[in-house]
Amino acid sequence: MKTFIFPVHALSYEKMIEKAEEGLMPNFKKLMENGSYGTSKSVFSTASAVDYVSLLTGCTPASHGIDDFQTNTVQGSIFGRDPEEYGMRRVPPENLDNTRLYTSNDVEVPWVWEVMDKHKSVQLGIFSPATYPAPDLPKDGIWVSGYWNKPQLLKNNERASNNENVRSELLEEYENYPITPSLAIPPSYPENCSTELEYLERKLEVDIEMSEKIQEARFEIFKKEDWDIFLTEEFFCDNIQHLLWPRSKENPFHSSTDEKIREKDLLGQFYRHIDEVLGMYMEELSEDTNIVVISAHGQEESNTEDGMHEQFEKLFEYGIWKGPKKWYFKKEKPSYCPPSRAEHNKNGAYIVSGPDFAENGVSRPISCMDFTPLMLEIYDYEKPEHLDGMVPKHLLK
Ligand SMILES: [Zn+2]
Repeated sequence: MKTFIFPVHALSYEKMIEKAEEGLMPNFKKLMENGSYGTSKSVFSTASAVDYVSLLTGCTPASHGIDDFQTNTVQGSIFGRDPEEYGMRRVPPENLDNTRLYTSNDVEVPWVWEVMDKHKSVQLGIFSPATYPAPDLPKDGIWVSGYWNKPQLLKNNERASNNENVRSELLEEYENYPITPSLAIPPSYPENCSTELEYLERKLEVDIEMSEKIQEARFEIFKKEDWDIFLTEEFFCDNIQHLLWPRSKENPFHSSTDEKIREKDLLGQFYRHIDEVLGMYMEELSEDTNIVVISAHGQEESNTEDGMHEQFEKLFEYGIWKGPKKWYFKKEKPSYCPPSRAEHNKNGAYIVSGPDFAENGVSRPISCMDFTPLMLEIYDYEKPEHLDGMVPKHLLK
């Protein structure tokens, strides 16, 4: 029995339902109609770095040991990048000595694929620094760390994968591709955008391109490798939602109806893209494959729109961002990037469909840490005592 797993970073239950009903997600809809779906609740916090570890170990942070992106997080600190390493810093430079990113060496319990020692798993991506360095997996399983999903991660860090061939193949495919403009760092083309809407449209286009490139490269591995379990994360949903989440209030910076319509359509375009990625894989999967779509947390409209402006002020202040500082989207207040319109919430989403799963349609919520016991149950493994998650029996046939 094969299982295909598609974690969509920050996929929101509410938006998934809305976009599927609007007809933008035919593949998602098909799975929902032939399986079970509902909310997947985050554990303890809604920090992706933590929740993803809970998902892949079946444990709370108290058991697995990862409580944030990095150890010694300073309250009220900022996002920034240290170009010397692959990672992300959340503290002002004067505090860097006392802090470091969590790594997989800090994870105190086994990953689900380590427990499943009779099956070969392939895991590409997962947005947590604790996925680096790549662990060795049974049956020559393959693991590619997903933190930031950037070529530099693969290029500068041999241990980002436990399989050198796979690492070089992926690198070959997207080494020369433009770096993803991340949420916190303005992209290199702000001079070409004179309005927020233009920026958002360009950003959407670039992220879709980057996502396609990454998924197409992974698709080759998907077809070539022999696997029992294949996991590919769709990373960009989180990033895009932070910027494109529809405002409930009218956007005061839009003057024409055309702009309003264009903006309204943006998030839907991205959800359609996610559906197409899933469709690309589904076409190659045989009918008797289990499919799991899951997110470890969701998102909702932000009520602190100005938070990002403050973060940007700090990026300049600390000298972390050296790009152009001439970006003005707000008339009354200068800013360097559109504000984040969404923040994380607990309501991620799941869909399960395939031979092992019940066809309940809409179903009760699960915890994201129930994913690990669910996999162990399907493949008939004993549940180790350290698990905090439980088998969501209502999802099984
Ligand atoms: Zn996020």
